[in-house]
Amino acid sequence: MKEVDYIIVGLGIAGIAFCKTLRKNKKNFVVYDTGINHSTVVSGGVFNPVVLKRFTAVWKGSEFLEKAIPFYEEISKQLKVDLLENTPIYRVLNSIEEQNDWMVASDKKALSPFLSTEIIKNDNTAIKAPYGFGKVLECGKINPTKLISAYRDYLQKNNQLITETFDYKQLQLETDSVIYKGVSSTKIVFAEGASVVQNPFFPTDNFVGNKGEYIIIKAPKLQSEAILKGPLFIIPQGDDIYKVGATYSRDDFSKDATDEARKTIVSKLEKMISCDYEIIDQIAGVRPTVKDRKPLLGNLEHENLLFFNGLGTRGILMAPLLSEWLYDFSEKNENLLSEVNIARFKN
Ligand SMILES: Cc1cc2nc3c(=O)[nH]c(=O)nc-3n(C[C@H](O)[C@H](O)[C@H](O)COP(=O)(O)OP(=O)(O)OC[C@H]3O[C@@H](n4cnc5c(N)ncnc54)[C@H](O)[C@@H]3O)c2cc1C
Repeated sequence: MKEVDYIIVGLGIAGIAFCKTLRKNKKNFVVYDTGINHSTVVSGGVFNPVVLKRFTAVWKGSEFLEKAIPFYEEISKQLKVDLLENTPIYRVLNSIEEQNDWMVASDKKALSPFLSTEIIKNDNTAIKAPYGFGKVLECGKINPTKLISAYRDYLQKNNQLITETFDYKQLQLETDSVIYKGVSSTKIVFAEGASVVQNPFFPTDNFVGNKGEYIIIKAPKLQSEAILKGPLFIIPQGDDIYKVGATYSRDDFSKDATDEARKTIVSKLEKMISCDYEIIDQIAGVRPTVKDRKPLLGNLEHENLLFFNGLGTRGILMAPLLSEWLYDFSEKNENLLSEVNIARFKN
């Protein structure tokens, strides 16, 4: 029987962040993952501590950001891949009123480190922004596809990755451990993203899921190095390619791209740019969202079964700090904040 400290199920950003925390603390672990990731890989990879619709701060945004940047820097160094891009976000302002709202917000204590006080004039004729842009400071993006692929390779080389669908029926719960297919582990961490609804140990009542789609366009005349935020995000990918979206849907949890989403994105895109473009792809994923929009960490009936889920729309920003909270809860008996503790949904 192989013995480890942790089994992790799922290798999206939640699973990766927890692996990194375990590695830092010299714990042994193995990961089970299907090998098909739909949320982290599909994501825009953007981390941003501001709600750009209303110009408000994200809940604990500055704390999350403080951990996220060094986390991605370290992981880039460890895996020897360039993951982190210091791409600014330019929020398209729609009127004089919005310019004023931006200036008021940028003066607020919680937002001033993140919002530039200057309105940037638009001199790019391919972008429709007559009232200019507000620039978000202290934000950026990672390349999620590169991250998943490099982290899988790294675990594979260390014999720590098993590419298969975890079969919940085969999990044996002992008093102080769990056993799964010849592996005995002190604890198991479920980090399956939106697929957690298939986990019989997980209470699904408060989990809602939210499908998102992007179109991928090639637009040689757009020439934007910044991430543009208007009715949707236009996220530069290099070589004149941009990810454009995303949509939000609670009706369909398939991972298929839809005509409806494409039409919605195209109509919003045309409000933002005036140059020619070609749609070269369309991708979809399901965000692991919870009714009260907060993460789900910790355990329920079984002490050795932990959950790392509910990362919603901001997993890239939040996962690094959340993984430390979960680790401290599991190993040091530290309390989780009630807002993120899965026990809040215990009957
Ligand atoms: C269109 C879209 C755009 C987004 N943009 C952003 C963004 O710009 N910034 C941001 O911060 N967030 C963004 N998000 C949200 C972000 O993608 C999620 O918060 C985050 O990726 C969730 O990560 P996760 O690890 O919980 O789940 P996932 O990334 O879904 O990973 C779960 C993993 O578990 C595996 N798995 C599931 N069940 C099993 C099983 N039984 N056995 C083995 N393996 C299993 C899956 O194969 C998968 O690899 C976006 C999401 C979408 C859909």
